[in-house]
Amino acid sequence: MATFELIEKHGGHEEVVYCHDPSVGLKAIIAIHNTNLGPALGGTRMWNYKTEDEALVDVLRLSKGMTYKASAAGLNLGGGKAVIIGDPKKDKSEGLFRAFGQFVNSLNGRYITAEDVGTSVTDMEHIFMETPWVTGIPKDFGGSGDPSPYTAHGVLMGLKASVKFKLGADDLKGVRVAVQGLGNVGTHLVKYLVQEGADVIVADIDAEKVKRHVELYKVKTSTVENIVFEECDVWAPCALGAGVNDQSITKLKCKVIAGGANNVLAEHKHGDQLKELGILYAPDFVINAGGLMNVFVELEGYSPDRAFEKTRRVYDNCWKVFEIAKRDNVGTHIAANRLAEERIKTIGNLRQRHPGRSSRNFTTLREMNNR
Ligand code: NAD
Repeated sequence: MATFELIEKHGGHEEVVYCHDPSVGLKAIIAIHNTNLGPALGGTRMWNYKTEDEALVDVLRLSKGMTYKASAAGLNLGGGKAVIIGDPKKDKSEGLFRAFGQFVNSLNGRYITAEDVGTSVTDMEHIFMETPWVTGIPKDFGGSGDPSPYTAHGVLMGLKASVKFKLGADDLKGVRVAVQGLGNVGTHLVKYLVQEGADVIVADIDAEKVKRHVELYKVKTSTVENIVFEECDVWAPCALGAGVNDQSITKLKCKVIAGGANNVLAEHKHGDQLKELGILYAPDFVINAGGLMNVFVELEGYSPDRAFEKTRRVYDNCWKVFEIAKRDNVGTHIAANRLAEERIKTIGNLRQRHPGRSSRNFTTLREMNNR
């Protein structure tokens, strides 16, 4: 398919920028999906794409996802993403990321980048040498560091909202939660859940991690095969995506699905099926937005306390999704999109009429860079 046809097919992007600098081997694409709510923020992914079209489709899809995530999170941010075509193990260099940083800079803050699959804090540091429009820089540069504790805290808030909505419980005391995956997000979530008095059961493919969590928190254990099918109030997927699929869906014994993993539903239809089954699903991009909230605070001038406070809003955001699902008699996966679209329309229109305070956003990084 021709490039413009591909762009049109993946819908409604404001701008797609091809970045090419043969002197450093740079081939990248930046996609700005929508800036109605604010500058387009989204990470830079480095991946060995087989074709340029594959890279284009990925960046179009991911940037659109960021528009929805930022909007549903209630942030003054739009959606964007970048991909660098190359092998992150072999093709990285300071020159490549600085050249990419110059392209980011040429967009004057319409696109703000961050770390993603295949890129690291060091790469962000190189980009930062050329542009202030980058987040996820090291702490000593005013950055926000590891987002996982904030993601996990947001997940806890969304999980609480789900339990209140579905089970009517005001707290998590005795609520049985099956946590799948004890990585960056899962480990913090387990800590928070135990503090809240939940009855936690865990599994990970890494037996050492399971052992450590049992020692630290006295949690129960399941197996990698069974954790998804545990008899529990909440299944919290914090490993890979596509956990709800044709094979698993009829065997689920949870009442709520609320975890940090991306792309929990293998397909759209599984969201409809969860509704039929009466299982309340807290949509992934709404419940795992704590990390995005954390980098947003970095743009305002970073404060860990403010970032932590902001992640509490995930409770209200999930609640709004559940209310829309009830109002429109649709699955929560559809309701989450409606929440995002309604806000883009309402607030986007307001900003066009009178940008107000939101137009003053994000000067901090620029000032910092000029220090
Ligand atoms: P991670 O790689 O640190 O942790 C994943 C954990 O899952 C690992 O411990 C791994 O051993 C385990 N695992 C893998 N397959 C498993 C299986 N089949 N059963 C049980 N355990 C399994 O990743 P993370 O940063 O904790 O992210 C977890 C999920 O949350 C991912 O889907 C990620 O995209 C999403 N997410 C993370 C953040 C963040 O701030 N880190 C933000 C938003 C979304």
